[in-house]
Amino acid sequence: MAVPTQTRPPLEQSRHLTDAMPGPQSQALAERQKAAVPAGVAATMPVFAARAEGGIIEDVDGNRLIDLGAGIAVTSVGASHPKVVQAVQEQVASFTHTCFMVTPYEGYVAVAEKLGEKAPLSGETRTALFNSGAEAVENAVKVARAFTGKQAVAAFDHAYHGRTTLTMALTAKSMPYKHSFGPFAPEVYRVPGSYPLRDGLDGATAARHAISALEKQIGADNLAAVIMEPIQGEGGFIVPAQGFLPAIVDWCRANDVLFIADEVQSGFARTGTWFASETEGIEPDLMTTAKGIAGGMPLSAVTGRAEIMDAVHPGGLGGTYGGNPVACAAALAVLEAIEEDGLLGRAQMIERVIREHFERHLDERIGEIRGRGAMMALEFVDPATGEPDAALTGAVAAAARRAGVVLLTCGTYGNVVRFLPPLVISEELLREGLGVVSEALAAA
Ligand SMILES: *Cc1c(COP(=O)(O)O)cnc(C)c1O
Repeated sequence: MAVPTQTRPPLEQSRHLTDAMPGPQSQALAERQKAAVPAGVAATMPVFAARAEGGIIEDVDGNRLIDLGAGIAVTSVGASHPKVVQAVQEQVASFTHTCFMVTPYEGYVAVAEKLGEKAPLSGETRTALFNSGAEAVENAVKVARAFTGKQAVAAFDHAYHGRTTLTMALTAKSMPYKHSFGPFAPEVYRVPGSYPLRDGLDGATAARHAISALEKQIGADNLAAVIMEPIQGEGGFIVPAQGFLPAIVDWCRANDVLFIADEVQSGFARTGTWFASETEGIEPDLMTTAKGIAGGMPLSAVTGRAEIMDAVHPGGLGGTYGGNPVACAAALAVLEAIEEDGLLGRAQMIERVIREHFERHLDERIGEIRGRGAMMALEFVDPATGEPDAALTGAVAAAARRAGVVLLTCGTYGNVVRFLPPLVISEELLREGLGVVSEALAAA
């Protein structure tokens, strides 16, 4: 396929470190950053990106890093997939913006149609588009309140839903997301979830505890919605015990409470299915998506049952940039790429490779290997006590980064290393990156 301005040779898919990382160009840029960007916006890696493609990020000094982060689960199809590049270039040349609320355009409608087809919801659906994951979550809550006429929203321990006022309230972890930023939005309640490694409960028992808290501390008559990530992301890539989520959704159905699945991180082929709700055996009423949806262009969505979404008065939903045409063009190209490149299957392959690797390189400090598809994690513990080991996690991540692997951590206790490679990463690069992590662990 001819790609108009992409005449550069492909980015070599190999790890390569120059004499210095960060090199002189990155160091100079870091100085400028310090003088112009607030300290609150902190970076994981000390290098500035110049190019990214497939499983590699190249920095401004020529270091080539293995990408096991995909910009936090965003560039699933790669950071410069030819289809996305072409779709964006064509759209930019036609028009960059009109505002869908002023003069609508086809791309928005086409993305809504596709999301309706793929979403794990039966019956008619409607989809509204926004810019960020947090904005999608905010709007899902607005829709749930408008439809139910109720106000309270329940979120779970270890939840992450964003950094705006309402979504900070829904997010569990104080540092760094909420610390010093209160007061938080009212009518948000937190209930226990399911974290098999730490609570030791089966799904039915954990659900009984959660439902008891919902009934006793809030009451279904006050509760508009329960929101949960089917696999909790920032909280530690926590896969709830089997049966937990279906029990919660059943309770919601029986009590006129809406269930919102926040699939911002787990959605869009990341876990080896289109959406994690499928493997967790639930059908949400509303679903939020973002991150992997548009190959890095800012786009997010709320998809829900038609009668719920249509409960909002005309003009009640929107925003200047929501469903920007360039982002929509990228999203349509991403959908095609996922299908043509067989990326659901690749996500499943990535899970197999990661599990096999760490089962072969066992270490008693790995408390659990968990996750689904290309959303996998290691939880590090003190082998004597099982307590979270954040210091070890930090040391492993730092050593892997120094060796040229972009590696992210997460977890309420800061003791989880997470793997979110682009789904197009070669098996060879993936194995090399995992080898670096194992070496870092052995040396720590
Ligand atoms: C990242 C994330 C968000 C917030 O998305 P932004 O685009 O950063 O606002 C919300 N929910 C989940 C599950 C996320 O992982």
